[in-house]
Amino acid sequence: MKVLVINCGSSSIKYKLYNMENEQELCSGLLEKVGTQESIVNHKKGNTKYKETMPLPDYETGIKRILQNITDPDRGALKDVHEIKAVGHRVVHGAETFSGSQLLTEEVIKKMEECIPLAPLHNPPNLAGIGAFKKLLPDTPQVGVFDTAFHQTMPRESYLYAIPYELYKKHHFRRYGFHGTSHLFVSQEAAKFLGKPASQLKIITCHLGNGSSICAVDGGKSVDTTMGMTPLEGLIMGTRCGDLDPALPFFIMEKEKLDSKGVDNILNKKSGLLGISGYNDSRDVEEGYLKGDEMCTLAHIMFCRRIKKYIGAYAAAMGGLDAVVFTAGIGENSDLTRRDSLTGLEFLGINLDQEKNTARSKEMRDISATDSKVKVLVIPTNEELVIARDTKLIVSRP
Ligand code: AMP
Repeated sequence: MKVLVINCGSSSIKYKLYNMENEQELCSGLLEKVGTQESIVNHKKGNTKYKETMPLPDYETGIKRILQNITDPDRGALKDVHEIKAVGHRVVHGAETFSGSQLLTEEVIKKMEECIPLAPLHNPPNLAGIGAFKKLLPDTPQVGVFDTAFHQTMPRESYLYAIPYELYKKHHFRRYGFHGTSHLFVSQEAAKFLGKPASQLKIITCHLGNGSSICAVDGGKSVDTTMGMTPLEGLIMGTRCGDLDPALPFFIMEKEKLDSKGVDNILNKKSGLLGISGYNDSRDVEEGYLKGDEMCTLAHIMFCRRIKKYIGAYAAAMGGLDAVVFTAGIGENSDLTRRDSLTGLEFLGINLDQEKNTARSKEMRDISATDSKVKVLVIPTNEELVIARDTKLIVSRP
């Protein structure tokens, strides 16, 4: 069965085509600057990469281009688009409505539309992608896999904010959490690696990428996570501030003469590593830190300190810890971040092997010292594969 995985962002579309008989990736790509006259189409088959610039004024033209690439005699992997037996979509916000992946029926799509007020930036592009496929491949089933779904197991004491309960009931203001597909995947991989059922493990998963979040996974279930009602809360990120005093936005509004949109722009797009160091890419921040640049050093230390604080907090909240997992762009690649986030946590039984930590590898690995009570693992995430697996499972149901 061939399954196409689609991730529609605010101006981009990522795709990966899988042969689900053996979970082999057949081709993949990324469309950037969708909605403009100068969109960039990146397509990859095997080790060959293709890049072209063309107008893609909307998601539908973008998806048409993807289907052309997939069926192109040279760069494609299929003879006909009807070989695609299902399309799996990454959907950012499933609110309290969706605690698992869903076949995208009219009724489910309607419920997804009702979630838009909670994710006004993320859900509309997801829905636009789904609408385009309905038009272009009307007979091909589509499945939605929600970023928030894994966290729907959080208990009330984790997901509620201490604001009037009435506001939660009226508007569904609460912590939802994101990156659920990634936290689920790496926690399950960790359990396999450790040779124990997930139900017997307490794991902290650190998804550190452009967006970053940490999750406390107790017995295979998410019991707490750092991102909140939106992906702004929690860790310091490339351009997002993470946790701050909730009164601060009002001070910024008043002193900088900004409206709520202006403050939102500062906290989401001008803060984080960028706000402190001038760089949003952690590679630039680390380079500055290694050269002794004062503000890059500060940004790096602040970033790692926040991670360390949450690892401590979640170990306390779960009452124990078996493993810490690092994943995503920074988590998988930055030995500096792993080292500086874990140094000082030896009292919790976390001991890193520095040599294993700095060894380069793309494989899943244990980087803890042999006598470390808590295992420290680096596990490459694969959200697309989880989406493809769920999609196959759902469309194969009798
Ligand atoms: P992701 O969102 O998972 O694609 O991760 C993107 C982030 O990973 C960017 O901030 C990159 O700078 C970061 N990243 C990728 N490779 C490295 C590396 N070798 N060292 C530090 N950060 C990295």
